[in-house]
Amino acid sequence: MAKDKELYEVTIVGGGPTGLFAAFYSGMRQMKTKVIESGGHLGGKVAQFYPEKYIYDVGGIPRISGEDLVRQMQEQAERHEPEMIYNQYVTAIDKMDDGNFALTTESGEIHYSKTVILATGFGIYEPVRLTAENASVYEGGQLHYSLNNRDELSGKTVMIVSKNRVGIDWALALEEQAEKVILVNESGEFQHVGPGDEERLAQSTVEVRMYHEVVELIDQDGCLSQARLVNQESEEEIYVTIDEVLVYQGIEFKAAPFKQWNLTVEKNKVTVDAGMAANVEGIYAAGDAVHYPRKSMLIASGYTEACTAVNSAKFYIDPKASAQVYSTVEYKYSE
Ligand SMILES: Cc1cc2nc3c(=O)[nH]c(=O)nc-3n(C[C@H](O)[C@H](O)[C@H](O)COP(=O)(O)OP(=O)(O)OC[C@H]3O[C@@H](n4cnc5c(N)ncnc54)[C@H](O)[C@@H]3O)c2cc1C
Repeated sequence: MAKDKELYEVTIVGGGPTGLFAAFYSGMRQMKTKVIESGGHLGGKVAQFYPEKYIYDVGGIPRISGEDLVRQMQEQAERHEPEMIYNQYVTAIDKMDDGNFALTTESGEIHYSKTVILATGFGIYEPVRLTAENASVYEGGQLHYSLNNRDELSGKTVMIVSKNRVGIDWALALEEQAEKVILVNESGEFQHVGPGDEERLAQSTVEVRMYHEVVELIDQDGCLSQARLVNQESEEEIYVTIDEVLVYQGIEFKAAPFKQWNLTVEKNKVTVDAGMAANVEGIYAAGDAVHYPRKSMLIASGYTEACTAVNSAKFYIDPKASAQVYSTVEYKYSE
């Protein structure tokens, strides 16, 4: 049977920290699990907004970069081999006559599941795209909109296009490992800079090109090799040799369509009970997607809520199952 026609016990919408931990824990509870992620990579906001920053408040891990945490969460999630679906945005969740759910994605695929766990955060953040000629050709290849997979940029000449502080952060984060970093800003200043940011940039080896706009990406032998820049003041054109492009021009937000899924919502988030159950029987939610009094929006909170949601889904499917797995006592996973 085609994988998207199979009936899963748990389908997790969203592959951020909460969805990944829910996937692991659902496997620990021996449920057939699928994760549907709208983007091309896992890790949610950690991967999108701060892969290069350190996180200090995940229990048992004194300090870890966002990128490393995502890598470890992914490794843990994959332990029980859940089905991972990328690049599919869930638009509709319908409860069928038999009580199971049909989840329809923007591209028209339908996924079937006994229960659903929403780990969507508040929605998705789409990067504002580079409009330079040929830019779309390199998306998913040498053109990136986040600093995920930083290792791929090692030893390369990286052009960063940004007039935001994020561009400075990325440039400084890459300075050591890249062969060369060129930071292109079409305006005469950086927005949202913090204390010392511009001084650190000035003292770095980053080549900064203010008042320059990237107007074209140029191919050689099937690979991106150059960018054509125009000086906004003098209108002079220059060509820079590059291997990779990293762009941050802001983010557009698309809220999760919770109301269309017939869910009770407060503050644009799903209202849940203590078992992380939403108002539709069989749908649970966790992480930044949920609202309850004194909810904290932290990775650690999402982990706890993910366990609760999974245990509730297990109980919904099999009321005789134990309330939770008492770790090593019951968890019979061999390395
Ligand atoms: C700049 C910044 C710094 C932070 N620092 C910290 C910190 O130091 N410590 C800490 O604990 N927390 C921190 N946080 C908060 C933390 O990142 C969030 O609490 C956490 O990411 C929530 O995880 P989540 O999986 O619930 O949601 P998200 O991370 O938002 O992930 C949701 C995922 O669902 C996907 N998705 C959404 N809708 C759909 C759909 N319809 N179909 C399919 N997929 C969908 C999205 O693409 C995304 O991958 C920070 C947040 C920010 C923005």
